[in-house]
Amino acid sequence: MGSIGRMLRSGGNSPAEESRPQTSRAEGLIKEFENSEKGWFWETKKDGTLAYISESVARALGREPDDVVGRPFTDLISTDTADGSATSERTLGFYLSSHVAFQDLVVRAKTKTEVWWSITGRPIHDDIGRFFGFRGFASDLTKIRQSEVELDKLARQDALTGLANRQALRRALDDAMVGSVRRKHRCSMFLLDLDRFKAVNDTLGHPAGDTLLRLVALRLQDVIGKSGQVGRLGGDEFEVVLPSISDKKELSNLAQGIIDSLSRPYTINGTAVSIGASVGIVTSDYDDRTSDDLMRDADLALYAAKAAGKGCFRFFAPDMHEAARQRQLMESDLRVALEKEQLWLAYQPCVDATSEAVTGFEALIRWNHPEHGPVSPVEFIPLAEEIGLINEIGEWVLRTACAEAATWPQHVTVAVNLSPIQFKSHALPTLVRMVLSDTQLPAKRLELEITEGVFLSNDDHVHDMIASLKAIGVKLALDDFGTGYSSLSYLQRVPFDKIKVDRSFVTGASDPQGRNAALIRAMVGLASDLNMQTTAEGVETQDELALVRSLGCSLVQGYIFGRPMPSEEARELASKGAIDRPVEKYPPREPRMRIIRAALLHFHGQVKGARLRNISSGGALVECREEVPVGALVQLDFAAGGLIDAEVRWTNGTQFGCQFKEKFNLKLLQPTKSPSNQPTVMAPDYLKGDGTEGK
Ligand code: C2E
Ligand code: MG
Ligand code: MG
Repeated sequence: MGSIGRMLRSGGNSPAEESRPQTSRAEGLIKEFENSEKGWFWETKKDGTLAYISESVARALGREPDDVVGRPFTDLISTDTADGSATSERTLGFYLSSHVAFQDLVVRAKTKTEVWWSITGRPIHDDIGRFFGFRGFASDLTKIRQSEVELDKLARQDALTGLANRQALRRALDDAMVGSVRRKHRCSMFLLDLDRFKAVNDTLGHPAGDTLLRLVALRLQDVIGKSGQVGRLGGDEFEVVLPSISDKKELSNLAQGIIDSLSRPYTINGTAVSIGASVGIVTSDYDDRTSDDLMRDADLALYAAKAAGKGCFRFFAPDMHEAARQRQLMESDLRVALEKEQLWLAYQPCVDATSEAVTGFEALIRWNHPEHGPVSPVEFIPLAEEIGLINEIGEWVLRTACAEAATWPQHVTVAVNLSPIQFKSHALPTLVRMVLSDTQLPAKRLELEITEGVFLSNDDHVHDMIASLKAIGVKLALDDFGTGYSSLSYLQRVPFDKIKVDRSFVTGASDPQGRNAALIRAMVGLASDLNMQTTAEGVETQDELALVRSLGCSLVQGYIFGRPMPSEEARELASKGAIDRPVEKYPPREPRMRIIRAALLHFHGQVKGARLRNISSGGALVECREEVPVGALVQLDFAAGGLIDAEVRWTNGTQFGCQFKEKFNLKLLQPTKSPSNQPTVMAPDYLKGDGTEGK
């Protein structure tokens, strides 16, 4: 303790204070302070060796004070520094040897566990001014530093997945860009969005969604490994910074690897869950793009990947900026369209499958763009949803369609499509009530078409909404059935009046090889058990009509009975009640023979190669690369019975159906030499009844 007394004495105390009781009080206070472990004192000799060190700190270092005294102070200090710059042991050594006072020098103790000190010291001189050594104190920074490190880590980490967060990713990208210029190699970045994540979150709940995000994070890290930094930007958006990959093939493989890995099923709380991923890729060029620019470009590439049908990756291309600009223009044009009455409604008839009487019309929105001409609702409805214009447009559709339907005969209904966003609006039932009352249309003549998309949001709300709408008396139809998430359970829970079997099932359903007919049969069976009607959407050909009829669909909608038409035509058709269709022209078709046989097609004085796919005595299905218009008179030569005159009844891409002018003897096609090789005569069930000729 002698040292301490000396320390206090040389601290500039007045002679009066140097009395014994004062000294012992001061020593007592120092002892108290040292015992509190908030700090400690030290003193070195001229040569930097320790002359004194608080007992508590010597013990904390696992030594006795006597073992430490006499050793260089710098021996207690590690060479690690807080910021990894100059080593702290050397810095302390510098101060001690240059006799310069220092303050709050942060150093790491040379201990196994992490201990940090903040050291302050000043040189001491004897009465005649000779340097005597150093004296000072230190405090323990370990806890503060640990929480700083923790805080820093937290500030850079996504709390849910433990991946880098937006700020950390930003820094990683900045570093990668700086590094790429310095090292003359380019860096890249992936922007990722999970497909169908929202559906999982909405149906299985947020905790399941969180688990899914954690699993995604693990898989992502697994795929990327040490090649880059994986992070989450928020929601279901992830980013990968790849500091030294720029080869397109390598990037493609990596992106595909991510998509494949993330698309493998997950099991969450015992439920199998499937999602997909879309990836936008951007590579830095030695240009003046900043990390913000790179981010924006990756966003455009991601948009392109999603627009291409999701589940794929796209590289950024400069023309994407132009596409984005066009989209923006389209957005503002759409706002104008609503004000300037460029929108109009077409009406497509829906007929009774048996009597063919018109039972109603579906209102389908049309946009005549002043420069681009007609724009499909498939393009602009999602845009209207994105920019928050769908409620306004939807209200206009509802009002216009109901006003129009009020002019039709009493039994003819009108169907209006609702976007899931409209369905979410609490004001919808009031709006429907108001429009019905304004237009004087009885509620039962209005049918609201919703898609499976509405079931992806909050269940309670959906059921309340359905109950409110049903209470008004309007009809509800489930549109595009079979294309969405196809949980059959909501068919049991929701009192739909009708399900509309999507066109994708109807198209080609008459192909005996396909499974669409079986699927339609199942849907019809289910609907009729639940007292719902079934509309077959997109029926275009006689075959399809015959099929959906035989499968029991109650209503039919499709080009075969009429395309969406202007209101004047619809009004006329509504009062007429039925569509003129030259059905009588097509006698019931005979069984077909499925055959693949080369043929020659004579048309317009030219002979073209073709292939026969199937044939009956009345007509044939022919495949030909050249386009042949409906109504064309052609001659077919398939090396049996000479040239056969036929009329093209329908076309579909490279295929057309034709009707023979005269009955063709199928026996002419039977091979005579090898009886084992006979073609099969196919007669699908649905053609045995009232099938009509056509396709
Ligand atoms: P949707 O409600 O399933 O409407 C049926 C679509 O199939 C219509 O396309 C119709 O023209 C087309 N279609 C009908 N019969 C046939 C056929 O025999 N063959 C073929 N190839 N197509 C046929 P459209 O008018 O282009 O509408 C597309 C979709 O846009 C609609 O599908 C609907 O989801 C949406 N949509 C149309 N109008 C509105 C609207 O007013 N509001 C909302 N929210 N969506 C609308
Ligand atoms: Mg519809
Ligand atoms: Mg539909």
